[in-house]
Amino acid sequence: MWIDTHCHLDAAEFAGDAAGIASRAGQRGVSMIVIPAIAVDNFDTVRRLATANVNCSYALGIHPIFVPQAQESDLLQLRKTVEAAMDDARLVAIGEIGLDFFIPQLTQSPLREKQEHFYSEQLKIARDFDLPVLLHVRRSQDMILKYLRRITVRGGIAHAFNGSFQQAEEFIRRGFKLGFGGAMTFTRALQIRRLAADLPEESLVLETDAPDISPAWLHPERNSPEQLPAIGTVLAELRGVDERHIAGVTSRNAHAVLPRLAGIA
Ligand code: ZN
Repeated sequence: MWIDTHCHLDAAEFAGDAAGIASRAGQRGVSMIVIPAIAVDNFDTVRRLATANVNCSYALGIHPIFVPQAQESDLLQLRKTVEAAMDDARLVAIGEIGLDFFIPQLTQSPLREKQEHFYSEQLKIARDFDLPVLLHVRRSQDMILKYLRRITVRGGIAHAFNGSFQQAEEFIRRGFKLGFGGAMTFTRALQIRRLAADLPEESLVLETDAPDISPAWLHPERNSPEQLPAIGTVLAELRGVDERHIAGVTSRNAHAVLPRLAGIA
C-alpha cells in the first residue's frame, strides 16, 4: 500500500482519464491520492474527483502561483467552503498554499506582499479549523518558517522538499513531514538524494506532484500517480531498505500528518 500525498489529478493533462488513472494507480497499490486545489475555481473539481474515486481525497487552498489572479474575497470563499466541508471526511488539509520566490515576477512588489498575505491568511484558516497544510516552498524556506513561527498550525507537509538539513529539522520540530517524489530519481539531484537517504524515516512522505516532476525514466513525459510505487522503490534503494518497509513507513507517516485520512470509509 502506497499513498501519493500530492497529485493534481484535476489538471488538464488528465482530462477525461482521471478515473482511469486513479483506478490503475489503485491496482498498483496506491491506496490513496491526495488532490490539492490551486484556486477557488477548481474547488468543486477536486472535491468531485475525491468523491467519485474510492482512493482519492482532497485539500482546499489557493496556490501561490495563482495568487496574482486571486481576489481578497477568495479567502472568505475558502473559509466558507472549508466550514461547509468539515463533515466531509475526504477533505484532509488546506492546500496547496505557500510562497514561490523562484518566479521573478512573484518576488517583486506588490505580488511578493500579496503572496505573503494569502499565505498567512490561509495559515489562519488552517489553524482555526485545526487542519494540516500542504505547503509549496520554492526558494522560500526561511519565510515559510517565519510565518509558521507566528501562526501555529497542527503541521502538514512541505511538498517537493528541497531545503537544507537545518530547515528540514525545523519543519519536523513543527509537526511537518517532508514530501519526496520524482526529483530524487535523478542521480544529479545530490542534495535531495542526501536528504531522502539521511532524514529520519518518520519524517518522510511520498508524492508524485503529477502531472509535473516526472521521474527520470519518464521525463519529459507526463507524470502520473501510477508511478508512485516505482518512486518509492528509489527511496528504498537510497536508504538501503526493503521497499515494503518504505511503503509501510511512508503510509503511516501520511496518516499521522493527515489524520482525517483515517475517517475515509
Ligand atoms: Zn502542487
